[in-house]
Amino acid sequence: MLLGSLTMTTAEAPAELEDLLRWADVVREGLVAVRVNADTAEDAAHARHLGAQGIGLCRTEHMFLADDRLPLVRRFILTDDAATEAAALADLEAAQQQDFEGILSAMDGLPVTVRLLDPPLHEFLPDHEKLIVAEAKGELTAESAAELAAVRRLHETNPMIGTRGVRLGVVKPGVYQMQVRALCRAVGSLLGKGRQPQVEIMIPLVVSAAEMKMARGWVTDALDEIGLAEMAADAVSIGAMVETPRAALCAARISAEADFFSFGTNDLTQLTYAFSRDDVEVRLLPTYLATGILPFNPFEKLDQDGVGRLVQMTCTEARAAKPDMKIGICGEQAGDPSSARFLVEAGVDYVSCSPYRVPIARLAVAQALIECGRFDASNSGSSPARAPRPPATPSPEPQPGPGPNRRPATPELRCPPVPPTPARRGSP
Ligand code: PEP
Ligand code: MG
Repeated sequence: MLLGSLTMTTAEAPAELEDLLRWADVVREGLVAVRVNADTAEDAAHARHLGAQGIGLCRTEHMFLADDRLPLVRRFILTDDAATEAAALADLEAAQQQDFEGILSAMDGLPVTVRLLDPPLHEFLPDHEKLIVAEAKGELTAESAAELAAVRRLHETNPMIGTRGVRLGVVKPGVYQMQVRALCRAVGSLLGKGRQPQVEIMIPLVVSAAEMKMARGWVTDALDEIGLAEMAADAVSIGAMVETPRAALCAARISAEADFFSFGTNDLTQLTYAFSRDDVEVRLLPTYLATGILPFNPFEKLDQDGVGRLVQMTCTEARAAKPDMKIGICGEQAGDPSSARFLVEAGVDYVSCSPYRVPIARLAVAQALIECGRFDASNSGSSPARAPRPPATPSPEPQPGPGPNRRPATPELRCPPVPPTPARRGSP
């Protein structure tokens, strides 16, 4: 038994690891960036310290679940009165603008991908069973009775393939329009303070170019409404999450309406295998792994034979249609070192993973670049061991196209571009 408590310290990495990571950054520079999946300004700042070069996925639903937001979200869901809905959305917009300003400030000068609301709305309501029990006991208040009615109204047999992601934006446009306005206002406010916000608005569960066209309309409307259309043109872009097989199969067409793609390989794996993420890890995977039917868990490591082919096809076809298309990956597999080489060879511009996987991703991606011949140390004029230390602030990945916030082509790059994406890097 211990009495009292010991003084604790934070674990510090040895100096040698820092050297190694810096060399890895030199290898990756201008080729493949490492970003973080982070939802708060604190996580973003921490991840930047760990070497993240931006945010590849900010899941905005986590902001909605905070104690001071959930009542507003529920007010929006429960009401059928337009004025009450508008008031709830206005309060949420103010809160979201604050959230976004915090995250964008923590990643100032680096790209921040903000994903609009993804889960089905019933996830923001109280548990169905608890409400039924309260009903049976005659303990429903007016508020919980309204919640139970909403839970019943929103019930879907397969909510993960139901009204979620961009579909929510189409059938109930208020939330998405509110989020886009909050983001654009955050960008405007930071630009006004001389900061350099770079927002990438990401649309989840896309299956068609028509959805992206509609989403682009929300962004242009918001920028026009706020009077930011010109000022923020280079600070705001819009892209699609490629997490349905159809989005992968229609990548060329969807790319016409998207500035970037990001592979959501959690959903893409779920939908390619028809494995319910919420169920198979407990019920099915142990047996499938033990019998050897599956050699590994495809939710941890990229399934190169199946999901990977969709990834390759998307990169090839999107870039054939739009050579400078920026493409990243933000599913769990993005932080798996054993998947790095495949992703690098497929041609992703960045991987985005959870904060503590950022250092290993920095190393794994650099190793993959060397292994597949994209980093030529002999051509660099200096061996990695003598490579200059990168700047304290990590540099963002190269951005396609011109514009004040675009990083210029990097003539010092040593690595020839690899097929199938030869034209997009701006490298020599
Ligand atoms: C994904 O589907 O890969 C993803 C990153 O989104 P989420 O896990 O939030 O569904
Ligand atoms: Mg997803």
